Amino acid sequence: MRVLVAGAAGFIGCHLCHRFLADGHEVVGVDNLVTGQQANVDWLTQRHGFAFVPHDVIEPLAIDGPVDLVCDLACPASPVDFRGLGLEILRVCSEGVRNLLDLALTKRAVFLHTSTSEVYGDPEVHPQREEYWGRVNPIGPRAVYDEGKRFAEALIMHYRRTQGLRVRLARIFNTYGPRMRLDDGRVVTNFICQALANEPLTVYGQGQQTRSFCYVDDQVEGLVRLAASQCTGPVNIGNPQEITVRQLAQEIIALTGSSSVIVEKPMPPDDPKLRCPDITLAGCELGWRPIVSRREGLRKTIEFCRSLPPELLRQAGSGKVLTEPA
Ligand code: UDP
Repeated sequence: MRVLVAGAAGFIGCHLCHRFLADGHEVVGVDNLVTGQQANVDWLTQRHGFAFVPHDVIEPLAIDGPVDLVCDLACPASPVDFRGLGLEILRVCSEGVRNLLDLALTKRAVFLHTSTSEVYGDPEVHPQREEYWGRVNPIGPRAVYDEGKRFAEALIMHYRRTQGLRVRLARIFNTYGPRMRLDDGRVVTNFICQALANEPLTVYGQGQQTRSFCYVDDQVEGLVRLAASQCTGPVNIGNPQEITVRQLAQEIIALTGSSSVIVEKPMPPDDPKLRCPDITLAGCELGWRPIVSRREGLRKTIEFCRSLPPELLRQAGSGKVLTEPA
């Protein structure tokens, strides 16, 4: 296949490109490098079959030659970006998705979109099944992302209904692993950087909120299977092993052998209290379930962070804690 991946320089995007290349496909990676990392592009450029196109998908894009699959992973996704990149997020979820849909139509390609567990908001149904319509604050600080992604789902399903486009819709739950951006304030990288620098781990609130963390290789396997399937979705792709944020902090302190303590910081507004995917549908339709344990996944992520310059870790550890409402 010839696959176009939008968001190729991002965390999940670069791993997905890597996997397609390893499977013998040709990959055209597109990214505007607003939150994507040049280091991820450099990692991919070393491999045969990869071409990088620097481009912001909010502008229409013309790609020469055939494209069999368009994968859309282009969107800033971290709560620390919701304020600074709010307009970019809203535009990429609307104009950007539309441009990619039009490209897929022109090329008669399958369109794989990565939506998010954020469409469920702060859920009243637990664990979250795909049928649940969610509880999202449409005017809160997370709304640019949550509502943007909900709009994108509506747009994609409209294209499917009216144009007959073959779409595959994934809802990604918290994913972690090597090549995450260290300075984007996500809990796993914050805690690892803080632990490796022996700085206090910043738990928001009392840390009783839960998340369910999926290792990136499992996530990519789920996306590849969805792209190859006949299933429109939406399909939850995530790891149903749920823990509290405080437990995660304790695990990372233990795994790094750090002398860090845990400190509590104010809880950001609208932070979901619980999150856990019901992955029954992915099991039935794709024969998929995650296989990497949290212990193994965290070990690999810690190893990756350890391999980076200590200066970078120190900056990351202290620099991206949400100290004011998002
Ligand atoms: N969190 C935390 N300390 C941090 C960063 C995040 O306690 O330094 C919490 C955050 O409030 C949320 C959870 O960890 O409840 C996951 O946050 P993240 O930003 O990684 O992802 P999301 O909120 O999008 O699930």
